[in-house]
Amino acid sequence: MDIRLGNGYDVHRFCEGDHVMLCGVAVPHDKGLDGHSDADVGMHAITDAIYGALAEGDIGRHFPPSDPQWKGAASRVFLAHAVQLATQMGYAISNIDCTLVCERPKVGPHANAMAQALSEIMELDVTRISVKATTSERLGFTGREEGIAAIATAALVRP
Ligand code: MG
Repeated sequence: MDIRLGNGYDVHRFCEGDHVMLCGVAVPHDKGLDGHSDADVGMHAITDAIYGALAEGDIGRHFPPSDPQWKGAASRVFLAHAVQLATQMGYAISNIDCTLVCERPKVGPHANAMAQALSEIMELDVTRISVKATTSERLGFTGREEGIAAIATAALVRP
């Protein structure tokens, strides 16, 4: 069996707004997240983790931010592409683990909904998807509530 691991990391800054998209769920907040797409920082980290496991670059390579057709794009398009690429290369996704780093909004109440949203996009059993969160103890840019960071790991297997 061929086992591959990939990691992904992403950051988006806060801007004016009334919700943030996190792992496919619109979470009410007193700010939004700035970005070329819908700025779903968690989904971007997961997508990059899958591309990383495949040694197939990153979101920017497959969906260049310079290309206006991706402006405001739903990040599920990126994630679905990464999953499709894995399938084409003969890999199944074994599991995903994603950690969101922010002081607010509180992720815990939405974590199950996020895993469910990811499960539907990835066509992967929800028990193989972990979404969790931590604060950075008010330190650094996430601690000052300037933005949200996300890290993700993907494990892929080829029988
Ligand atoms: Mg991003």
